[in-house]
Parts: sequence; structure tokens; C-alpha cells
Amino acid sequence: MESVDFSTWLKKMELNHPLVIAGPCSAETEEQVLKIAHQLKETDATVFRAGIWKPRTRPGNFEGNGVKALPWMAKVKEETGMLTTVEVANAEHAKLALEFDIDIIWIGARTTVNPFAVQEIADALAGTDKIVLVKNPINPDLELWIGAIERLHTMGIKNLGAIHRGFSSFKKTKYRNTPQWQIPIALKQRFPTLPIINDPSHICGEREGIFDVCQTSLDLKFEGLMIETHFDPDNAWSDAKQQITPARLNEITEELKVRKGRVEEKDSLDKLNNLRAQINVLDKQLIDLLADRMDVVENIGKVKKESNVAILQRSRWSEVMQGMVNEGKQNGLSEDFIEKIFKSIHQESIEHQEKIVNS
Ligand code: PEP
Ligand code: MN
Repeated sequence: MESVDFSTWLKKMELNHPLVIAGPCSAETEEQVLKIAHQLKETDATVFRAGIWKPRTRPGNFEGNGVKALPWMAKVKEETGMLTTVEVANAEHAKLALEFDIDIIWIGARTTVNPFAVQEIADALAGTDKIVLVKNPINPDLELWIGAIERLHTMGIKNLGAIHRGFSSFKKTKYRNTPQWQIPIALKQRFPTLPIINDPSHICGEREGIFDVCQTSLDLKFEGLMIETHFDPDNAWSDAKQQITPARLNEITEELKVRKGRVEEKDSLDKLNNLRAQINVLDKQLIDLLADRMDVVENIGKVKKESNVAILQRSRWSEVMQGMVNEGKQNGLSEDFIEKIFKSIHQESIEHQEKIVNS
């Protein structure tokens, strides 16, 4: 599969900007669907998305209009000329999407985790020339993501792509689903022609961070964006906090930089920008790790305060430093470098603990 060219469907669209898929989290009513679609006609969006069958974490929430909403999607296409996409979660959904001539079918994060469900969908879609996009599984498992794409490919589906929507994590972070960029980067390295679409809406879980996540994904050479859009986000029936208006979508796409160089420089510039974006991702991870470390350090400070133990314990510290120097050596990092870094981390830790102990 590594040598297949997956990008034909995207090239055929002849876009001079990254692909934009937009539309509400859920198709609520026919009027809502058509109103949003008409507003999106004035944006860069080529594809209209709407959830028809909604996977909900807890029962009792709006679970979608089901098959009744499929003719609304046909109307969107007829009235605006946009392509349409819906999520399918089982064979029946997949058959209905084909029957109603939906252009792009996507498999949701909660479905990608389940090889039985993916196989059932792949069988139902066998041989289709529709485009099928696979969201990453909820858990950070690259092989499971690739496995789902392989199951579709094996059933003769050629127009494939991936959607990066972030990964669930136990730790509370500023994201609803942490991006863990290294995973889509690894996917791209394995399948360089496979288009990857970023879904900043489900990564952020709120409106604020959407622009930054979009920009990082474009710096990493993702081919497109899927952004939840609603004319009245606050009153959306699902994912209200993360939806943006079509007007805001326009502002975002206008501000986003798709970095381009002069033609003769383009290749090396592309590579350079891509590598720089990877460095930015790693630097952010370093900061997150340092912040995690300081949280633990502060907890130690609390224990020391309760039990009246001195902050600095030299024997413990020289043990830590020696361990890190050895670890560094094994990874090709010099003793001098490791010592400098850990002295500085240690200094910051002492300052954090002093604040706690003296509070
Ligand atoms: C969605 O796109 O509305 C959705 C349910 O996404 P995910 O599968 O990424 O949670
Ligand atoms: Mn949603």
C-alpha cells in the first residue's frame, strides 16, 4: 500500500488552497442544513459536512435525524453545488450513504477503533469510487488507524484519506483531544501521498484554539481542514462550544498562511518548513513535559512541608544527575549539555518548592 498514489481524488478537485470541509456537527433540521450550506457557499469550503447518525458519549443527547436527513444533503448539493459528506458507523449507514449519493463518506473515531465495524463498512462499500476518509481512532494507535485504511483499500476502495481529530487522554489538557502530532506525521511518512485532513474542532473542543491548530497542520503539510460550522454555534444541538460561524471560517482561512516559496526554491523550502513545524511540535511537548514535572515537584513540596523535611537533599540530587548523564550518553547527548539542562530544571524546581514550603 506504501507505493499507491492516494491523492488522485484531491488533485482532480484542482483547488488552489487546502481542501476545506465545513458544516454543522449535526444536521438538526432541513432549514438549518440549507441555511448553513448557503452561507458556506461564500467561503473556501468545497465540501459540506453534517452528522446524521451521532455517536454520543452518554445516552439521552441528540442522536441525529438518521435517514430522514439524507435528502437534505442531496438538496445542499443541488442548491449550492457543494460536495457532501456524512459519518457512517455501520454497514447499513454505508449502504444508505451510497444510495443517497453522498460524495464523501467518513468513518468516525469511535468506529475506527473497532476492526469488526470497519470491516463491515469496507464490505458494504466494496469497489465504490466514492471518497472515504478515516478519522484517527480515539486512542493513540497508529497501527489501528492504518489497519482501517488497509481494510478499505483491500476492498477495492481507491479514493482514500485520513482525518486527524486528536486523541483522548486521561490527563486534563487545554485540548478536548490532544493532537499528538507525531502520530499523523508518522502516518504521512509511511504513506506520503495519503491526503490528511485536520479537524481542529474536535481537537480543541472550543473556538479559541482553532486558528493555531489549523496553522500547525498546514505547516506540517496537511492537505485540508474539516471545521464544524453553524450560523448559531451557541445553540447548536451538539458540540456547541467548538462550532464557528461561516463568517469566522472566512476570517480564519484568509489569515492562514500556506507557505510557498519561489518555484526553484519550493522543494527545499517545503522540506525546511515541514521540519521546522516538527520542531515546533516537539518544543511544545518539551514545555508540556516540564510543566508536568513541576506539578510533581510541587506535590513533593507539599509533602515536605507537612513532614518538615528540608527542600534540598544533596544525595538524592546527585543520584538524579548521574542517572540523567548516563541516559543522555546513551542517546548521544553530551555530559555538559545534560548537566546544564538539569541544573536549570533543578533550580526552577527549588523555586517552585520554596513557594509552597513558605506559603
Ligand atoms: C464529528 O465529526 O462530529 C464526530 C463525531 O467526530 P469524531 O468521530 O472525531 O468524534
Ligand atoms: Mn462534532
